[in-house]
Amino acid sequence: MKNIKDYDLDTLKKELELLGEKPYRAEQIFKWLYVDKVKSFDEMTNLSLELRDKLNKSYDICNFNIEKKLESKDGTKKYLFGLQDGNAIESVLMEYHYGKSVCVSTQIGCKMGCKFCASTGIPFVRNLSAGEIVEQVIAIEQDNNCKISNVVFMGIGEPMDNYENVLTAIAILNNNKGMNIGARHISVSTSGVVPKIYEFADKNIQCTLSISLHSANNKIRSSMMPVNDVYNIEELIDACKYYTKKTNRRVSFEYALAKDNNDNLENAQELVELLKGMLCHVNLIPINKIENGKYKKSSLENIIRFRDYLNDHGIVATIRRELGSDIDAACGQLRRKNIKQTKD
Ligand code: SAH
Repeated sequence: MKNIKDYDLDTLKKELELLGEKPYRAEQIFKWLYVDKVKSFDEMTNLSLELRDKLNKSYDICNFNIEKKLESKDGTKKYLFGLQDGNAIESVLMEYHYGKSVCVSTQIGCKMGCKFCASTGIPFVRNLSAGEIVEQVIAIEQDNNCKISNVVFMGIGEPMDNYENVLTAIAILNNNKGMNIGARHISVSTSGVVPKIYEFADKNIQCTLSISLHSANNKIRSSMMPVNDVYNIEELIDACKYYTKKTNRRVSFEYALAKDNNDNLENAQELVELLKGMLCHVNLIPINKIENGKYKKSSLENIIRFRDYLNDHGIVATIRRELGSDIDAACGQLRRKNIKQTKD
């Protein structure tokens, strides 16, 4: 059955027209779904019984079951949601000084094969629908009785490999008649699917584009991320420059530091050369250890030295606060299903 949350407002209007209804009905439904966040059509009391019946026959309201919830000592919460087809995905709630942020998954599994990421090695199953992406935010808001201010597309999956559904999810999250999360409060992270970055730039949505860079050197980057053999660093940087030209937005580069791999001053120097003159920000992350992973975290001393080198050479860089690593909720630790036994 079709999921009512898979449609942005304009498309929902068309769906309602097909049912012989006036477009303003779509706005009413949209409000019930994303402002009141009801779980059934029967609660939509300003719709006629007849329309509610029609909706019940044609659409599902995708509600997730919380299969498991883990809470870190820093307040971060990791959710394992059961989907209607029996699959499961992980999402994370993080608390920052500016508000609450949800990290959403976009696919069940991931095809990108990054060597340092826990989502690798688990077979890819399918894309998440737009409604399944949005529902992660709604379910977390409801479980915590709170309003989410930021959404980051940094969970399991490659957003640019599920481009259409991600765009629809952004449109739903962003709509001021619904969830009303500002585009500037939404970040989309990509391992570097260059053609999609151009398409995304042309949409000029004003989201933050995050690039998982991890090295300024093609040889090192290719050893960490197979996508670099398809779109190399130069092509990727050109696409980022285009993004900034089209949107006036600063691009954010993610750089996970691994001991003796990409964390020495020569690596920092190469990064400075690469990013010189760009409107950008570098987020340094101590690489998170994953099961059977070969990469080890850089020492804090090395990370600080790396950051200082960038800052001293005109590149704005900060060290990202690690959240949720004790519950395997930190960057790169999400899996399709948390099979590992974790103490609850
Ligand atoms: N596929 C997208 C989004 C998911 S990954 C992307 O690649 O950007 C979210 C972020 O976590 C990316 O920056 C990714 O490179 C990073 N990441 C993955 N594994 C990690 C690890 N073990 N330690 C630190 N960061 C990691």
